[in-house]
Amino acid sequence: MEIKYFAFLKHLIRFNRQVYLDHNATTPVSSHVRRKMDQALKNHFGNPSSFYGIARRSAGLVEQAREHVSQAIHADPSEVIFTACATESNNAVLKSVAAHFHPQKKKIVSTPIEHPSVMNALAYLETQGVVVEYCPVDDKGRVRLPELEKQVDENTFLICCMLANNETGVIQDLKAVTKIARQHGALILADCVQALGKIPIDVHAWDVDYASFSAHKLYGPKGIGALYVKDGSPFTPLLHGGHQESGLRAGTESIHNIVGFGAACQDVNKLLAHGEQTRALKQQLIQRVKEIKPDCVINSLEAECLPNTLSITFPGVENAGLMGMLDFRGIAVSAGSACSTGEDTPSHVLKAIGLSDQAARETVRISFGHDTSARDIRYMTQVVRDYIEGRISFVHMITPAQLNENILFDEKTYILDVRPPDDRRKFKGLPNSYEVDPLFVEKYLKQLPRDKDILVYCPGGGLSVMISYFLKAKGFKHITNLRGGLDAWRKRRSDLYQKYAGQNVTVLQPDPVEVVQ
Ligand code: PLP
Repeated sequence: MEIKYFAFLKHLIRFNRQVYLDHNATTPVSSHVRRKMDQALKNHFGNPSSFYGIARRSAGLVEQAREHVSQAIHADPSEVIFTACATESNNAVLKSVAAHFHPQKKKIVSTPIEHPSVMNALAYLETQGVVVEYCPVDDKGRVRLPELEKQVDENTFLICCMLANNETGVIQDLKAVTKIARQHGALILADCVQALGKIPIDVHAWDVDYASFSAHKLYGPKGIGALYVKDGSPFTPLLHGGHQESGLRAGTESIHNIVGFGAACQDVNKLLAHGEQTRALKQQLIQRVKEIKPDCVINSLEAECLPNTLSITFPGVENAGLMGMLDFRGIAVSAGSACSTGEDTPSHVLKAIGLSDQAARETVRISFGHDTSARDIRYMTQVVRDYIEGRISFVHMITPAQLNENILFDEKTYILDVRPPDDRRKFKGLPNSYEVDPLFVEKYLKQLPRDKDILVYCPGGGLSVMISYFLKAKGFKHITNLRGGLDAWRKRRSDLYQKYAGQNVTVLQPDPVEVVQ
């Protein structure tokens, strides 16, 4: 007896080749790191703040990891503070330095391509009266140094400039930036999160005051970051509590995560040695993609760029559709920073380097790992070729602005809500929509109309693309996907949302189970 359920899941499993090309979002934990973390979890539960032997051994592990991290970045161990993540490291520096200098000095100069953990912290500081200026970048994202020189003045207390960008991989000339900071007595924070393990880091040689790092970008665990604070640079803790981390970051140490970070840093030289191989693979991919789509635009530099990072614009190809299709074939790439996933606004980084909103929506980020193979690249390019050359049928995309009353109330449109239950509890859905369980779409196929245009939507526009491809594969011809999902539509068309959301919603019951004897 066979129960014909779970076909959507099976369909996912059918394309079971997994090619992960989003290492700038996060990396898998390496076996070396896992082993060290396992040992720490098994044998070292003692609280490093206590005094007996069990605790002292935990404290010893923390200090050993600190050594490993400091060696990887060329710092003194006393200059490294463990935090929960790089977001915390960036916030801690920005808020601490602002509290130290403001209002005697008023200005921070940063770049328009920083990670949201910097951009949003700066936006907060602006509400507190800090003046924030953004130095323009060129069309590849390099800070325009002559502009920076003009912007930084005696009123500037901090320059905040990332070493390597998470979306395009562009590497800044930190030494030159630091020189400008020093000329005006300003301090400098360098977000080095994407760089560690990909290019050599030397915080002493660059003479930065603060630098942030995160273990999960170099095959370490999530939930552990580090902050370099140069000996003598001002710093007041973000968290107040116990005296951990020399009184600079309160909270009982996450020993296994710290150990994992230390172990990941021990592997940094091996990762660096792999860089050229990765760069060669990237060049291979560029060459193949250019053969498939000669008008594609490479937004990443060849030199002055992380070896593993590639930003490509495919004119005329919506990135949401491309990513959904790739995901359906087991290939993970992204549109930009993982922290912005689900937002409908085009990437601020791509906009800063001069891309139009449309071009930004046609851009994907591909980030290789140390185990990415030539075979992975061949597989990916084959799938992209099939898609671009029309052998995999397109799912039509609609923008939140386009979804108006005419479409919502069109007899020929069938609105399919594939949101998870928690989103349905939080937000009312589109009017006239039909709710199905997104994990078991197969259970509803008999009820879905084949003669109408099915408009599929989810909270952020990602899951719905996958389900759209599933429906295409099941023979549904007219599928449209709401880009950015309900989240984007609620924001963009709040007038329509308030007027119509939740009206005439039907909860579909699964098709009767077919039992094959
Ligand atoms: N800075 C950059 C450049 C990043 O890419 C990231 C993560 O994507 C962060 C900061 C935030 O790191 P975390 O995830 O540890 O908070």
